[in-house]
Amino acid sequence: MAMILALFLIHYNGQSAGTYQITNGMVISFLGVSILSVRGPREWWLLLALPLAIFALFARARGLVLTELLPFMFDPLVMMVIGIVVSEALRQLRTGEFLARQELQELQEQATTNQLTALLNRRATHHLLEREHARAQRYGTGYSLILGDLDKFKHVNDRYGHNIGDIVLQETARRLGSHMRAQDALCRWGGEEILMMLPETDLDGALHVAEKIRLSFADEPMLAGEHRIPQTISLGVTNCRARDDIESAIKRADDALYQAKENGRNRAEAIPSPYSEHDSQADQIASVTKAH
Ligand code: GH3
Ligand code: MG
Ligand code: MG
Repeated sequence: MAMILALFLIHYNGQSAGTYQITNGMVISFLGVSILSVRGPREWWLLLALPLAIFALFARARGLVLTELLPFMFDPLVMMVIGIVVSEALRQLRTGEFLARQELQELQEQATTNQLTALLNRRATHHLLEREHARAQRYGTGYSLILGDLDKFKHVNDRYGHNIGDIVLQETARRLGSHMRAQDALCRWGGEEILMMLPETDLDGALHVAEKIRLSFADEPMLAGEHRIPQTISLGVTNCRARDDIESAIKRADDALYQAKENGRNRAEAIPSPYSEHDSQADQIASVTKAH
């Protein structure tokens, strides 16, 4: 901008062909700068208004009358206005697209996560379980499930109110998350029931995780508002093999949880898969042999 305005001042000599040539250059540069570079008032000021103000000062210093220059400046200035309008329209279009994309992402997140705890919801977990199960069937890898349920949680709601109960649920999700690996999944299965899926983990490994979780609840009261609330958790653990089906694996975890409640709460119980590792390896060899 500064260069083309300086050129105009240097070569201006009335209504000559040279002046009109530079005016054409100004038309193109005013339009280009406004469309391509101006993305708001601050840039408009820096890229167009400031050079124009300096131009006016230099023109006066050279003894040129501004009204005399106006016919040459008219087309470039009109182009500047058109350029700014186009640039603003493009900016609004881009912002609109960005917001629409963000909204879509939020909707997708809402469809797969539970709002209170930010954990996966039941539907999203079913998808994950199906994927993990298909992997177990294809590669013979097992996975484990842990179903956790807070002990006597109704008392927390009754004694401290539902809002404090909600905070305890959020803290529960955070505490459980701290025991999970990146590939594990954490789901709000029911009111205060949480299902954990641990890929490539056998029953011993899952029991070890469940015990760590149990201790982290038993050893550390929940901080909710100004309250310190002792809150324990019971856990049901099972492992899942290729010949299993998802529904029976979930039922085993649920039965194990029931046992934990029956045996006094604040404990983890396990029910192993009826299928051994040997079964799934034999299945795999059989399916590979069949394929040949
Ligand atoms: P138990 O040891 O046998 O599990 O006893 P419990 O009192 O925890 O019994 P149960 O698991 O049946 O109770 C679940 C309670 O969880 C009932 C309901 O009031 C509460 N709850 C479920 N969802 C929410 C929620 O989103 N927020 C709050 N604050 N409470 C919830
Ligand atoms: Mg409970
Ligand atoms: Mg419950």
